[in-house]
Amino acid sequence: MPTNIITVGELLVEFVSHTKDCALEQISKYSGPFPSGAPAIFIDQAARLGAQTSILGGVGADGFGKALLQRLKDDGVGVEHIFVDPERPTGVAFVSYFNDGQRVFIFHLAGTAADSFQVPADGLQLHDTLFHISASSLGNPNLRNMVLKVFDQTIAAGGKVSCDPNIRPELMRDTEVRVALDDIISKCTYLLPSTDDLTHLYPGMTEEAAIDRLKSGGADIIALKRGSKGALILDGKSEFAIAPHHVSEVDPTGAGDCFCGTFLALLIQGYSMETAGEYANAAGALSVTKRGPMEGNSSLELIEDFLVRS
Ligand code: ATP
Ligand code: MG
Repeated sequence: MPTNIITVGELLVEFVSHTKDCALEQISKYSGPFPSGAPAIFIDQAARLGAQTSILGGVGADGFGKALLQRLKDDGVGVEHIFVDPERPTGVAFVSYFNDGQRVFIFHLAGTAADSFQVPADGLQLHDTLFHISASSLGNPNLRNMVLKVFDQTIAAGGKVSCDPNIRPELMRDTEVRVALDDIISKCTYLLPSTDDLTHLYPGMTEEAAIDRLKSGGADIIALKRGSKGALILDGKSEFAIAPHHVSEVDPTGAGDCFCGTFLALLIQGYSMETAGEYANAAGALSVTKRGPMEGNSSLELIEDFLVRS
């Protein structure tokens, strides 16, 4: 079992529109800057759940960057590999929701500090590491290079890889993304897609057929995130459908990253996949009750308290 978790990717601040159906086209009230970026939300939650963690990424030497760094430090994330870029601003995202549950993002990522950092060519100690890939990062060519460098180093060192396909059509127009994603999926030990990811990965397939397809790959454990329908956890031998908690959804963004951070942090600390799945399912439900993608991240105590009450 790995003893620590690392990730590589976009560190962003996010502004969340308060008005549904404004489509980021109309003037609306926004809250932010909320610390964000799928890898950042993930690693923050893994640290809060007691895992030893580190993130490789970049922020600008500005207020947004300071806010991000401070949050990650406060929550126990290793920030020694975050490059504070004196030349470029921190990356920014905007999100707005529609009444039918869809959402739209605008990302300011290219050319910001978020995609302009370098990872070490070697020297990372990865033998006992779980490298988590949030594949939303693969759509950006610079981030893709950084992720793939650490991926190759992890595989060469005998470390383990987890992948959340986390498909964001806005970030994934490049056809090379699919090649990289398929390679990662074929070599990862833990695969954590959402039902939306399945429809993007295998268009036209039923959920059952898509799961069979994933099962025939190399992953030891698959966790399927089903949004308000809960989750399904499976390995080669058993399968656990985990019922959803009934919560009032304020902001669904980040639930998947929070789920993955909880699930993997607990697995590497020796929890069974069923218990890790139940805790992750609760953490995901808690996360959607707060506005801001990382604001609903939670501690072990909060999750256990929620599980007792529900
Ligand atoms: P994102 O990519 O925005 O971070 P995702 O699509 O990867 O999210 P979801 O399936 O939306 O992931 O959410 C992850 C998990 O969080 C779900 O499997 C479920 O356990 C929990 N969850 C999410 N939304 C709700 C909800 N409305 N009610 C209860 N639980 C929820
Ligand atoms: Mg996701």
